[in-house]
Amino acid sequence: MRVNAYAAPAAGRPLVPTTIERRDVGLDDVLIEIEFAGICHSDIHTVSGDWGPQPFPVVPGHEIVGIVREVGPGVTGHRVGDRVGVGCMVGSCGECVNCVDGDEQYCLQGMVPTYAGTDRDGSTTQGGYSTHVVVDAGYVLSVPAGIDPAAAAPLLCAGITTFSPLRRWGAGPGKEVAVVGLGGLGHMAVKIAAAMGAEVTVLSQSLKKQEDGLRLGATDYRATSDPDTFTELAGRFDLIVNTVSATIDVDAYLSLLAVDGALVNVGAPAEPLSLNVMSLIGGRRTYAGSMIGGIAETQEMLDFCAGHGIGAEVEVIPADRVNEAYERVLASDVRYRFVIDAASLR
Ligand code: NAP
Ligand code: ZN
Repeated sequence: MRVNAYAAPAAGRPLVPTTIERRDVGLDDVLIEIEFAGICHSDIHTVSGDWGPQPFPVVPGHEIVGIVREVGPGVTGHRVGDRVGVGCMVGSCGECVNCVDGDEQYCLQGMVPTYAGTDRDGSTTQGGYSTHVVVDAGYVLSVPAGIDPAAAAPLLCAGITTFSPLRRWGAGPGKEVAVVGLGGLGHMAVKIAAAMGAEVTVLSQSLKKQEDGLRLGATDYRATSDPDTFTELAGRFDLIVNTVSATIDVDAYLSLLAVDGALVNVGAPAEPLSLNVMSLIGGRRTYAGSMIGGIAETQEMLDFCAGHGIGAEVEVIPADRVNEAYERVLASDVRYRFVIDAASLR
């Protein structure tokens, strides 16, 4: 099936309209007519070449929501007409210790990314800036009724990427959580951590988005450009989730952790980050990373968000505004996720 899409033709080049081939629906596959696809900063890192060479042309998009139009004969979990989602992963070996544990994102054979990855048949995967996608049913999530589909799309990456470390590191009542960067991931982290019952502080470059941060569920909001922030908040947090797409002064943020506190990096900048181990030693602190979440955990996150009335704050755009949206994301001018209306591609 030949479908319309938007693709980056080469590293650092603007995205252009194109057509791509989607495979026939196999035994365990689901054909999804895409309604919305979120724009993640990872899409921008990938097509900019920040993370190394890519198999161009690349159709980005790993925050996909749409309607099931066809299922293979082996599919039992999804039916024609269901609203479903696809995140960052469309395959994994299913057999290694990590897959068996529900951590398919850490598959020892390497998970298959939704775009710019190599699928089981050797073809290159192409993502959600497109009208349709065919995905193995094991990587298709159910979108609960009650979440607006455009607001649900960003949950498939921004939602799970923040939900997973918040859960793992125990965000909840009595815990002080800081979120660094109020962008796509950051605003989801604030909403989810607040819904989990934690006390949430936003650490943003400026106070420009303070009103929004407090409305989203934070009780404190500080500018990291103000040196007083780092003296006033020293030793305060049990958990800091860093969502910044660029390098940060890791030691400065570690100094904000309480004893046994953890700084978890989900931001994935092109350049390495460095730290002084004294920042860890002097407080038994942890510096960790986390990548998206497993499939069952992603479903748990969607159900949690539906239960708490949580969706992303989105600006819905037609596909031909994708390059402009990329510029605005790079300028930290996103409130708080751009989402492509796939109807504009038909
Ligand atoms: P985003 O919407 O651009 O948000 C990033 C935020 O970081 C910005 O809104 C800004 O917030 C802050 N920021 C940007 N540049 C900065 C700088 N130079 N110094 C300090 N702060 C800066 O991006 P996103 O989509 O949320 O993604 C964030 C990062 O997470 C990206 O690197 C992305 O690749 C990565 N990511 C990782 C995973 C994973 O599995 N680990 C999954 C998805 C995305 P303020 O304006 O509030 O300061
Ligand atoms: Zn993403």
